[in-house]
Amino acid sequence: MFNEKMHKLGSNRSVIRELFEFGKALAQKEGKDKVYDFSLGNPSIPAPSVVKESVLKQMDIKDSTVLHGYSSAQGDADVRKAVADHIRKNFGCAVDENLIYMTVGAAAALCISLKALQEDGDTFLTFAPFFPEYRVFTEMTGASLCVVPMQKDCSLNLVEAEKFIDEHTKGIILNSPNNPSGAVFGEEQIKALCALLTKKSAEYGHPIFLISDEPYREIVYDGVFVPYLMNYYDNVIVCYSYSKSLSLPGERIGYIAVSPRCTEAQELYYAVCGAGRVLGYVCAPHLFQRILVDCVDAPTDVEAYDKNRKLLYSSLTAMGYECIKPQGAFYLMMRSLEEDANAFSEKAKRFGLLLVPGDSFGACGFVRISYCVSYDMICRSLPAFEALKKSYSL
Ligand code: PLP
Repeated sequence: MFNEKMHKLGSNRSVIRELFEFGKALAQKEGKDKVYDFSLGNPSIPAPSVVKESVLKQMDIKDSTVLHGYSSAQGDADVRKAVADHIRKNFGCAVDENLIYMTVGAAAALCISLKALQEDGDTFLTFAPFFPEYRVFTEMTGASLCVVPMQKDCSLNLVEAEKFIDEHTKGIILNSPNNPSGAVFGEEQIKALCALLTKKSAEYGHPIFLISDEPYREIVYDGVFVPYLMNYYDNVIVCYSYSKSLSLPGERIGYIAVSPRCTEAQELYYAVCGAGRVLGYVCAPHLFQRILVDCVDAPTDVEAYDKNRKLLYSSLTAMGYECIKPQGAFYLMMRSLEEDANAFSEKAKRFGLLLVPGDSFGACGFVRISYCVSYDMICRSLPAFEALKKSYSL
């Protein structure tokens, strides 16, 4: 009567959502101050004031039938130009506004890009740890997702990756700064990956695309450098989102940038437009396209996240927990105190701590801690982390 696969996806909530719902119920029962919810990646800092000013300005100056009306499918031309100018200015890349496609956040950008590329028998590759929705997005196209196992320090495992790449590999999904590890892949790793993909593309006689999922691009610490992939490799599709950088996840706004150096870039862009049409996106939210003309260059305030990162990392390691120090995004991976991270996460709940088990990220034996929360909540949660640790030495 209905699609079994869709039914399964819809009826099995993600572990993250499950924890979030549990947290809400627990807060009602025990009180909000007894719950330390580190489950979701919802930005905890307000959107910059320029966003509000721009929204109000749009309301005043725009004919509402235009403002709330459809835009062209790929987005307004001046919005795409503002995005292209931003990329040119910041990364020195001569992108073309006619190869920019405005999307409903990074999730839609990924779905559209994968759908645009996928042909029968294709596979896509990603590196663990990875954003679990990649599996859903890839399989939706009819392709399959191969996952390169995680390295201890969460860097790119290129020796293993080489074993996974074959004639069916259409693209690699890369996410840096990374959810869930907070890793940022440096220039040396990126150059080595690009060299591998260039070699493999030549060997199999077709391009292997790099799909760069970068919603956390601006959220980095200690001045760490995030290489812009278009400067290192030809066949790059950037999937960007303003969900995290401007704290606008509910407004659903982002874009796809097809590198002008892609093989048959214009034809690929048409495939992107076709995929957007098939998936029924029609156009990205128009009001939030318009605000980008004012806000594309708005700086991301990472100070609060950095303060949280420092407090969590130093406190947890001082307690004896093993953590991977994040260089970007707002997640920290911590080793579970027992082999099964699901059991550990269950136990943590008894102390009011909501920690996401790493299994679905390809990081068995770890939990993910989202620190886009209030500093105060982190301070209050520390005795609970201490008590959880003690409970394993009894
Ligand atoms: N990619 C990664 C790595 C993410 O963490 C997220 C959201 O958390 C997304 C994509 C989806 O972002 P958006 O809200 O822009 O669709």
